[in-house]
Amino acid sequence: MKKRAITIISYGQFETGFLSKIAKEITEIYQWPVTIEERYIELSTFYDPARRQYDANKLLREIDNSSSPDAVKTIGVFHVDIFIPIFTYIFGQAFLNGHTGIASLYRLKNELYGIEPDNNILLERFAKVIIHELGHAFGLKHCYTPSCVMLSSTYMEDIDQKEHKLCSKCRAELSLNLPG
Ligand SMILES: [Zn+2]
Ligand SMILES: [Zn+2]
Repeated sequence: MKKRAITIISYGQFETGFLSKIAKEITEIYQWPVTIEERYIELSTFYDPARRQYDANKLLREIDNSSSPDAVKTIGVFHVDIFIPIFTYIFGQAFLNGHTGIASLYRLKNELYGIEPDNNILLERFAKVIIHELGHAFGLKHCYTPSCVMLSSTYMEDIDQKEHKLCSKCRAELSLNLPG
């Protein structure tokens, strides 16, 4: 039997060490081991030509349907620009109290905003998005503590202003929601 873990599934290549550093941070916060897998899906199926972006709801459902029952939670990570109909773009999303989330690196890159690339900042941002979406999957809603990772983020600056950790209130809530 496979050891139960939070599973990160990468769709597309990520630099060596990039996801494993994020995995370490996830384990510190959620107290589960993390496994990393790479998978392939035909992304063109999820492309919306009118918006020239990828449909996050469809991607989330796809990953939810194909995720292993052994996984405590599954988070799919992408490079492509994702959206849901009511927003211009999103960094990620998850089923509240569900099993699955997704996150994308696309909107987190300095280059997109005309700033010099910075891999450390990129990693820090992506870790926050992933930890945030996993928080939703563990039943946490948005938090109003400015430093809390569960603060809702609309812009990249919002992500930079919060920390990658849960505030004490969210930590307390999480311990009630964690599966035994
Ligand atoms: Zn959220
Ligand atoms: Zn909080």
